Amino acid sequence: MPEYTVPQRDIRFVMNELLDSEGLYQTLPGCEEATEEMLNTIVSEASKFCEEILSPLNRSGDEEGCHWTPEGVTTPAGFKEAYHQYVENGWPALSVAIESGGQGMPNLLGVILNELTGTANWSWGMYPGLSLGAIKTIETHGTPEQRERYLGKLVKGEWTGTMCLTESQCGTDLSLLRTKAEPHSDGSYRITGTKIFISAGEHDMADNIVHIVLARLPDAPEGTQGISLFIVPKFLVNDDGSMGERNNVHCGSIEKKMGIKASATCVLNFEEATGYLIGAENKGLACMFTFMNTARLGTATQGLAHGELSYQGALKYARERLAMRSVTGPKNPDGPADPIIVHPDVRRMLLTQKAFAEGSRAFLYYLGQCSDIAAFGEGEEAQAADDLMALLTPIAKAFITETGFESANLGMQVYGGHGFIREWGMEQIVRDARIAMLYEGTTGIQAMDLIGRKVLGSGGKLLMGFTKIIHQFCKQHAGGSISEFIEPLAHYNKEWGELTMKIGEAAMANPDEAGAAAVDYIMYSGYVTLAYFWARMAVVAQEQLEQGSGDREFYEAKLLTARFYFQRLLPRTLAHKEAMLSGAANLMEMDEALFDF
Ligand SMILES: Cc1cc2nc3c(=O)[nH]c(=O)nc-3n(C[C@H](O)[C@H](O)[C@H](O)COP(=O)(O)OP(=O)(O)OC[C@H]3O[C@@H](n4cnc5c(N)ncnc54)[C@H](O)[C@@H]3O)c2cc1C
Repeated sequence: MPEYTVPQRDIRFVMNELLDSEGLYQTLPGCEEATEEMLNTIVSEASKFCEEILSPLNRSGDEEGCHWTPEGVTTPAGFKEAYHQYVENGWPALSVAIESGGQGMPNLLGVILNELTGTANWSWGMYPGLSLGAIKTIETHGTPEQRERYLGKLVKGEWTGTMCLTESQCGTDLSLLRTKAEPHSDGSYRITGTKIFISAGEHDMADNIVHIVLARLPDAPEGTQGISLFIVPKFLVNDDGSMGERNNVHCGSIEKKMGIKASATCVLNFEEATGYLIGAENKGLACMFTFMNTARLGTATQGLAHGELSYQGALKYARERLAMRSVTGPKNPDGPADPIIVHPDVRRMLLTQKAFAEGSRAFLYYLGQCSDIAAFGEGEEAQAADDLMALLTPIAKAFITETGFESANLGMQVYGGHGFIREWGMEQIVRDARIAMLYEGTTGIQAMDLIGRKVLGSGGKLLMGFTKIIHQFCKQHAGGSISEFIEPLAHYNKEWGELTMKIGEAAMANPDEAGAAAVDYIMYSGYVTLAYFWARMAVVAQEQLEQGSGDREFYEAKLLTARFYFQRLLPRTLAHKEAMLSGAANLMEMDEALFDF
């Protein structure tokens, strides 16, 4: 397993130089403490914890996995102790609102912490990661009494949270959900049903687990209009906040799975378990979207995490592994062969990983800032940030996890046959990365959400909000020294709108057209979005180089990686464009029976 070194220089570049976080947070009421110095210090402290404590447990956690007994689940050696240290250091509270018992730091720092813990050890990071969604859901939809009862311990990390949607017959289509909730005379409900695939559903890291559960009331309307949301704690909580009796929710088993083996994926049996309604009856799915949006951004970060870790391993290996000579003459004349980093194809793989990781970091931190503007800003500015989040979250989830998985695969490829052998750890990264394209809504589902609900559903308004920003940026920098980036970006930005119109028109005539175009559309959108961030990074790098500021190599590498992105990765949009315009017929005209032949 590659040793993880937090790329602090790049993180500071994105946080401070590209996105001017201090400048932003000084203007957002309640965020003034987030100065550049404070942000850098927190990143540096988190880096120590992730490099020294979490990263060494990544491989051993994968080897050992979790253990199930009827009494509960134990996590791999060292996980619990690492979690206790995390809690003692106050990390769970970092980006939670002060009113909820948190430290009130911007959500941008929450995104960064998720990246760091997740790159060091994704399986471990899922335990505290899910708590954040539970906290946000209770904060947003809970009663004052529920907030009082659950938030304090969740925010401190003494308890953790889960998200319980999936059942064996339904994951994507929650209208098929069957778990029941019967009202009880004391105002609570009795929850009965079986949830599957519940991450962190049972473990030994915290004293209590607060499950956030979707279930149906008796006589609820069919479909998604009849789903309600409940808090179901593993141990009931007494009026004075102390822990009471064991609730009737038990882990029936844990899944044996391809990757993230140290994350317990649980079957949870609710047998008349006591639950408490959150939000209004039959409005549970809308409330659960608070959780799902938090989790979607968290999962997008998984693509960056695995891409970055794989890149770090591949780069080191490519410098050490000797094979053949460079065709332009030996680069290591004293050795028996040249390091493989001299070969163009190995550089293609490394630069693809680097371009995706650094581009995705800029994209995700931008979203982190948008969520802060939406939460702390006011009026039109807050609404605009909220709109950007709505549009860009599915793009980030789908595009960053797809390209993160590609990067994980490329890292394995750089190792040749050794990449396939367990001891190097590169195959674990591939296995761990694969789930990100599935859970929290598959790539196909994110794509339908983007084109259907977000783009066409808003009459193009949400898309225009973002393409206008790109347009302004291109106008501002037109004709400058980085026109090699600005010109193609302006072209693709315009084309994005045109393609949207075409798909929209086709979908009006035949609704299958939107679904047929969806995945190519979201990937196209992802490439253009990343091009915007790469162009912005190129502007900053170019300015720094022109001013002759220190760290020349860092800025030169940025410009060269931007060039690689624009010349080698952005042209993938051409294939996506052709495919999405080819229409639904080539998918739908084959009779189902013909699939057999
Ligand atoms: C390791 C792991 C951890 C998980 N953690 C959690 C958790 O903590 N909490 C939780 O509630 N769930 C969790 N899940 C469940 C996960 O979110 C679901 O598996 C996922 O949403 C997909 O649902 P499904 O498996 O039922 O697939 P299905 O819904 O059966 O989908 C199968 C395929 O059909 C496609 N499809 C379905 N409908 C459409 C459509 N209308 N148009 C186009 N394509 C469609 C899908 O994209 C997919 O490719 C986890 C799953 C795993 C494996």
